[in-house]
Amino acid sequence: MRKCQRCGSEIDKDMIVCPNCGEELQLLKAQSKFEFVNIHFLRWLECLALIFPLIGFIIGYCMKRKSAFISKNVIKFSIVGVALWAMLFFLAFICLLALILSGISLF
Ligand SMILES: [Zn+2]
Repeated sequence: MRKCQRCGSEIDKDMIVCPNCGEELQLLKAQSKFEFVNIHFLRWLECLALIFPLIGFIIGYCMKRKSAFISKNVIKFSIVGVALWAMLFFLAFICLLALILSGISLF
């Protein structure tokens, strides 16, 4: 059972309109699903973008003993990765801000 977002009465999951207040439920459901996917996708992207440079740093550090050249380059790529992550984080932040400003409640 799910609840109507407007009046809070329990409604059947395949109902389109709330029998109590007449709220269009399909529309609300689709909208919230869109938000959910968006926010979680952005969070995922943030984490993923941070993990790769971190792995790069670790690999770079471990290779220091074997080859200074490889180590130097891996660390260089890691720094680029961190810079890209910062850009991505900023982009995600703007997207979230745009969502908030467009009047969609996030929580
Ligand atoms: Zn209702």
